[in-house]
Amino acid sequence: MSLHWKVLAWMLAGALFGVGLQQFVEGSPRSGLSFEATEGGLVVTQATGPGAKSFSAGDEVAAVVVNRGAPEEERISLSDPAQFAALVSARPIGEVLWLERGGALAPVALDLDPASARAKWIEPFELIATIFMSLLKMLIVPLVLSSIVCGVTGVGTMKDLRRLGGKTFLYYVSTSLLAICVGQTLVNLVKPGDGAELGLSPTAAAGAREENFIEIFVRMVPSNVFDAFTDNGAMLKVIFFALLLGLFISKAGAPHSERMRELFESFFAVMMKMAEGILFLLPYGVFALMVKVVARTGFAVFEPLLLYMGTVALALVIHACVTLPVLLKFVGGISPRRWLKAMSPALMTAFSTSSSAMTLPVTMRSVEERGKVSNKVTSFTLPLGATINMDGTALYECIGVIFLAQYYATVDPEFALTMSQQGLIVMMALMASIGAAGIPSAGLVMMLTILSALGLPLEGAALLLAVDRPLDMMRTVVNIWSDSCGAAIIARTEGETPVPAPGSSA
Ligand code: ASP
Repeated sequence: MSLHWKVLAWMLAGALFGVGLQQFVEGSPRSGLSFEATEGGLVVTQATGPGAKSFSAGDEVAAVVVNRGAPEEERISLSDPAQFAALVSARPIGEVLWLERGGALAPVALDLDPASARAKWIEPFELIATIFMSLLKMLIVPLVLSSIVCGVTGVGTMKDLRRLGGKTFLYYVSTSLLAICVGQTLVNLVKPGDGAELGLSPTAAAGAREENFIEIFVRMVPSNVFDAFTDNGAMLKVIFFALLLGLFISKAGAPHSERMRELFESFFAVMMKMAEGILFLLPYGVFALMVKVVARTGFAVFEPLLLYMGTVALALVIHACVTLPVLLKFVGGISPRRWLKAMSPALMTAFSTSSSAMTLPVTMRSVEERGKVSNKVTSFTLPLGATINMDGTALYECIGVIFLAQYYATVDPEFALTMSQQGLIVMMALMASIGAAGIPSAGLVMMLTILSALGLPLEGAALLLAVDRPLDMMRTVVNIWSDSCGAAIIARTEGETPVPAPGSSA
């Protein structure tokens, strides 16, 4: 069986198995909070788990609000820890409960209790998934560094580098803007936020950090390269250093230029060989990841946000199945269907890892080996693309922010977006997609930046977290699809014929 079918089969099997675990194996929700009863109510004794981040020991909690914002909203005073535990056990995993603390409401998201049977079942798969992801992560920094250095030194003259860089930049910015336009049009047509029952108050205090966009550029310059090498989220820094290193290797002159180039070329070749080795594990890694993701998340929490999720999904589908294939066909002269088949291992890895950076080794191998694009083009465009070119993320930022603004505007008309604010969102969504690291949920974190720039409450982004994973999987696929289409189109304009030989199934 070709790798394409093998990975797909294992991925589906993983999803089915995950659904089976979710349906038939007992998995209870937990809040991650332990309480002690006092006269005034409950006092938090311990706050553990990812959902209870906004609490710490000593917090006094007077009541819990369930179904917040919905007609069946209910406020329940708390006086007994057992009463809260009973309430939690009756709610779906993934739901957000609001606890009244010091007169304000703070969210706690329910996750799978590690003591429950389902968590025990998931454990071995989680282990395999972690090892698989670590193997991919392990390659990110050496691969990005060596491929960009080889890419820059291998392009040849400064003139060639400028040409290739210019084309790459043009492709990245224009496809991201096209994606944003699709998202913006769709979200304004569907209006998923109008009248949605999200249970958010428009006056909620902004709680997260504000990041100004200039900071994204400032962040690009590393003050210590070794620091940057130790952080998979700091890829812009590694790219910045690698671009300079490549440039100055070319400028260093004999004998250093040649020696350094050979050194990096060999290093890069070895890294790609390692990527090939990891590719053998791909079907099993993807299986374990799917089991882990599907079995953990309850589907019940998706309900109030279904229209929003549908809007994001539809926009992603339009961009991936119409816009990019049209470019591939008419600018690159490449059959989108054949290109899709060649890229399938990378796309499935993107789907199951939700990370462009982790997928990079697989993307590079797919584009080079299966897509027959030269090393010169792949090693320059793909590592840049994995960090900078995120069409799916760009579109998602735009839809997410406008969706929340629509919702807040129905509660308080002051939040209605003006035309100029909509224009601002386009630019900010582009910047956010450039600045987002290629790691899971990076897009959601970047959304906080846009929300705070527009003066919208940040609380909304916390709510979107509950449904972020499936959307993240989908947008990462689109991110990788756009990177690979870009490599193919640029290769074509460089005189290459990046069409996989018919029947090739590496
Ligand atoms: N997970 C995405 C990626 O790695 C980034 C995002 O969160 O949108 O491409």
